[in-house]
Amino acid sequence: MRIKDTVATRLKELGVEVRRDVLLAEQTSLGIGGITDELLLRRYDSIAEVMHLLANERIPHRFLGGGTNVLIADGDLPWVVLHLPTSAPGMGVEGATAWADAAADLGGMVTFFAKHDLGGLEGLIGVPGSVGGALRMNAGAYGTQIGPHVREVELYRAETGKIETLRSPDIRFDYRHTSFAPDDVMLRVRLELPAKPYREVLAGIRVCNEKRRASQPLNQKSAGCIFKNPPGGSAGRMIDELGLKGHRVGDAMVSDRHANFFVNTGRATCSDMLRLIGEVRERVRVAFGVELENEVILWQN
Ligand SMILES: Cc1cc2nc3c(=O)[nH]c(=O)nc-3n(C[C@H](O)[C@H](O)[C@H](O)COP(=O)(O)OP(=O)(O)OC[C@H]3O[C@@H](n4cnc5c(N)ncnc54)[C@H](O)[C@@H]3O)c2cc1C
Repeated sequence: MRIKDTVATRLKELGVEVRRDVLLAEQTSLGIGGITDELLLRRYDSIAEVMHLLANERIPHRFLGGGTNVLIADGDLPWVVLHLPTSAPGMGVEGATAWADAAADLGGMVTFFAKHDLGGLEGLIGVPGSVGGALRMNAGAYGTQIGPHVREVELYRAETGKIETLRSPDIRFDYRHTSFAPDDVMLRVRLELPAKPYREVLAGIRVCNEKRRASQPLNQKSAGCIFKNPPGGSAGRMIDELGLKGHRVGDAMVSDRHANFFVNTGRATCSDMLRLIGEVRERVRVAFGVELENEVILWQN
């Protein structure tokens, strides 16, 4: 989507850098995604005004964090993509609470808090992407999820048009799902983390890194797990049992290392990946009577 020059001028006055005709395939870990205008927010204090402007001009928009959990349509996209201010995102420790900007790198946050002798997030090391994306997804691995550590989230709420603070009792964090409204924009989080000596946190981090390296295709383009695990089961195990590792549609392939990771082996399109997802889901449904739900977020037209 191309926004009008008049709107672009007003956005620039609010400190937004407007980039034209950006190929989102270059910003996603899957290497898939079409073309649209990109708005880079440079200031936190103008976010509400920017959002009001987009709403008044009826410009559809989506926030992209690290782009590690999205499957974006091919071709011209009917919405613009926004990024939070990314230059030197803040994080800090104040007494018993730790805080981080949503634009911060998740792994960077885990190691930063570790250096302040705060643990509890070791399992999240190696989950790529931003703190905002992790909050939206309730990212988790190896028995750790971010949700239980969250005390407060500062966010822009499209519903009220204001920046608000939500406290943990008012947020539900479920398995790769949260109660945030689809158009809430996470800006900052406060976490409560257990005190733990740096060396112990580091040891935990190393164990998680090794497990990840041993089981995941980390040198290939993917979005992590494509499907959520069904209650009490493992999507990867079912796909593996069906002999689907290596199964492909065009350049989209079920990883031969981890059956719930689908990789882009070259020039896979979104259509290739969607067909592969559909075929695998159908094979699992027929064989096991289980309807797999996507973990990857689909950004379609
Ligand atoms: C190799 C690999 C391994 C992975 N392993 C794991 C794992 O172990 N566990 C796990 O949970 N995930 C895993 N993932 C998936 C992914 O890394 C996580 O879901 C991550 O938290 C997504 O963050 P992101 O910033 O990249 O989000 P994006 O992909 O950019 O966005 C995902 C969703 O979050 C929304 N979003 C992003 N930022 C904001 C914001 N500030 N405010 C509101 N909404 C926002 C987007 O609009 C979108 O709907 C893996 C991915 C890869 C590629």
